[in-house]
Amino acid sequence: MDTKVYYVDEHSDEKIKEAAEVIKRGGLVVFPTETVYGLGANALDEEACRKIFKAKGRPQDNPLIVHVADFDISEYVENIQENAKKIMENFWPGPITIVVKKSSRIPMLVTANLDSVAIRMPSNKVARKLIEYAGVPIAAPSANISGRPSPTTIEHTIDDLMGKVDMIIGGDKCEFGLESTVVEVLDEKVTILRPGAVTKDMLEEIGLNVDIDPAILTKPDENLKPKSPGMKYRHYAPKAEMTIITGRIERTVDYINMKIDEMKSKGKLVGVLATDETKDLYRGGYIISVGSRKKLGLIAANLFDTLREFDKIDVDYIYAEGFEEDGLGLAIMNRMKKAASYNVINL
Ligand code: AMP
Ligand code: MG
Repeated sequence: MDTKVYYVDEHSDEKIKEAAEVIKRGGLVVFPTETVYGLGANALDEEACRKIFKAKGRPQDNPLIVHVADFDISEYVENIQENAKKIMENFWPGPITIVVKKSSRIPMLVTANLDSVAIRMPSNKVARKLIEYAGVPIAAPSANISGRPSPTTIEHTIDDLMGKVDMIIGGDKCEFGLESTVVEVLDEKVTILRPGAVTKDMLEEIGLNVDIDPAILTKPDENLKPKSPGMKYRHYAPKAEMTIITGRIERTVDYINMKIDEMKSKGKLVGVLATDETKDLYRGGYIISVGSRKKLGLIAANLFDTLREFDKIDVDYIYAEGFEEDGLGLAIMNRMKKAASYNVINL
């Protein structure tokens, strides 16, 4: 398939309209959002959505998020809870997805046969114009080959999906760089199914009672059916085996230095996911600073790009410094643990 690539910004109306036409015709368009790049199709067109699963190699039991540009979502949901409204009013447009009861308008393929649907209104202006011009909601998972780190630049999407989609639009690096927070909203209960830039604290600040799904904190049990189907998959993975080291940072650096020496003697190259504070303390290896520990937002934005860089260098092993699992750190460590297949050493 020929893939058109357009570098656009929010003022590129003609190009965005052309992309919207592709969506209306049942085609696939990669587009930027503030979280990660999305691979979109008309959410009301089952055949179009089927192409998403095929292009990504995505398992059919992993549902898609439906992206909207209008606050009136009554056509797509059964009845909307007060708490869901509260989240929409406070955080939309923005990086949080609500899981609510679906209406019959949304094909079962989109929700992987669940009776709930995940809905989000992105703040990225190109994304919103695309949805508005298309005149339909857009179902979109991240625009990467399933299993690989999510794409935070247009180049990442070109690497993964060139020749597999009709069009790629974008240009800007994604502002947040981690996928949206996913919350299930049922009656009084709000449960975080996937941590993201909208944190538990932020949800509690608007008066919500918030639970964190246990699968976020621990390695999911292979036999348990997870609430959020995406939870069970190995995700975001770089090619090399990755280990996260947590505990006191001095000890972490010592341990990783020891591994660098050990692997070097075997002719192997270690990639180190370091931080600005520690990057000069390593001897040898391929060191990438993911950012300063004082700016977790930038670390989140750089994480997937850093994992992809290790792939390009073709390192043999990756050792990564860990982060505290609170605030945005919870989302960062959630993605890192999946990338490392839950290989964590606490010193
Ligand atoms: P992705 O589009 O790759 O960022 O993944 C979307 C994720 O949203 C899925 O992997 C699920 O974890 C979550 N999700 C989507 N729809 C639902 C739903 N109906 N119920 C629970 N989780 C959902
Ligand atoms: Mg994804």
